[in-house]
Amino acid sequence: MDILSPSLEDYLEEIYRFSLNNDVVRVSDIASCLDVTLPSVNSAIRKLSEKEYLIYKKYRELVLTEKGRRVGKFLVERNRMLQNFLKAINSQCDVKAEAEAMEHYLSLPTIRAIENLLDFLESNKECRKKFMKHCQYRNEKGLGLVNGYGE
Ligand code: CA
Repeated sequence: MDILSPSLEDYLEEIYRFSLNNDVVRVSDIASCLDVTLPSVNSAIRKLSEKEYLIYKKYRELVLTEKGRRVGKFLVERNRMLQNFLKAINSQCDVKAEAEAMEHYLSLPTIRAIENLLDFLESNKECRKKFMKHCQYRNEKGLGLVNGYGE
């Protein structure tokens, strides 16, 4: 199996996400979505095209291959699931940034386990309510990990 680097995964994820809402995806669109320079996008796009995730068309248009769409869909869903997970555990973090940091490092078994947990919480709303109450209780009591670095 040919696993992409975290950086290439982010490019493919963004290209797929962009393609869901737009008929045409251009190199410049992806550069502005990811806030990166055109040369770095170009180098990533070349690698993704060598690995047959997408093809370059005229006017710098990008078209995902079947493999590109399949993997892109997985990457977008994995990101969304991790964002949902962080919300479900009531993390007070920057959800988007944290999901970005986690997504490349968790194994598929862990991601599937998280998916099971989310599904469980979704179909057992009273558990979610109890959990939220528990979070509030601990918060009020000032319980929890002490930041050794200082606040
Ligand atoms: Ca990402």
